[in-house]
Amino acid sequence: MSLNAQIEDMFSREMALHGRAYTFYSQLDKVLHKDMTYNGFPAKLFFNPGRVQSVMADISEEALAKRPCFLCPSGLEDKQLTTLWTSPTQQQYCIRVNPFPIFKRHYTISSAIHERQAFVPHLHSMLALAEQWQEVTLFYNGPFCGASAPDHMHFQAVPRHALPIEKHFDTVYVPAYRIDEKDITTQIQHVTELLQKDTSPLQPDEWEHKWNVISWHDTEGFHTIVFFRTKGQPDCFFEKDPEKCIHISPATVEMGGIGIVAEQSSFDKLTPSLLHDIMQDLAKKID
Ligand SMILES: [Zn+2]
Repeated sequence: MSLNAQIEDMFSREMALHGRAYTFYSQLDKVLHKDMTYNGFPAKLFFNPGRVQSVMADISEEALAKRPCFLCPSGLEDKQLTTLWTSPTQQQYCIRVNPFPIFKRHYTISSAIHERQAFVPHLHSMLALAEQWQEVTLFYNGPFCGASAPDHMHFQAVPRHALPIEKHFDTVYVPAYRIDEKDITTQIQHVTELLQKDTSPLQPDEWEHKWNVISWHDTEGFHTIVFFRTKGQPDCFFEKDPEKCIHISPATVEMGGIGIVAEQSSFDKLTPSLLHDIMQDLAKKID
């Protein structure tokens, strides 16, 4: 059985348990969305109240210390299933249905051990998984730019082409960098070299630069898109004036062209140019 068939089977079995994931996947059809096309780039905005935990996530050290880790076995709900996957580098990962979906298929791939987000040691695994599981696009949210579990290493998987940037990379929306190679060793080398170009100083509590990374594999080989970030959340998130306050916490999905808000007021306020301006402010160019 292919990896995708195993995961599809797990998805069906989990939906049949009628737990939390079933509830949220059933509600996806009702998610309001609006077109946010900007300069020819087909961005979209989703109003998804089920994502409120992710949009408003408190990832301060104090908050993380107080909550059970939802990617560790002890923090799982009883109706969450797991498919184990071992990378060619013998690192073990748990593939699970993301209980707070953005798309009709949405998975988390977390390290089998509780270790904090750190991209480069898991890059080989991410690319090898992309090669084995070509039905999905994988992405990584850095610990300070979108991850709601910065204390536990994880990727996510969504259907191929769910993110507009995959097909529209050449339509300039926000600064982004792309590496395409046939061979995994060369891909790893070039992606690592690209990441090293971010030489901005880290804050005292940070252990990694702010990166959002997308990878997939198709008949042409490996593809990786990197967004270098200036900050985790936009100024409008902290705006005191309720007329100007917009609760959006951009991560890879947003940088890739799908904005997510969990409140009607934020959905109503955002326009294509405002969403674009927010993304522009969060992404930086690397020399
Ligand atoms: Zn954990």
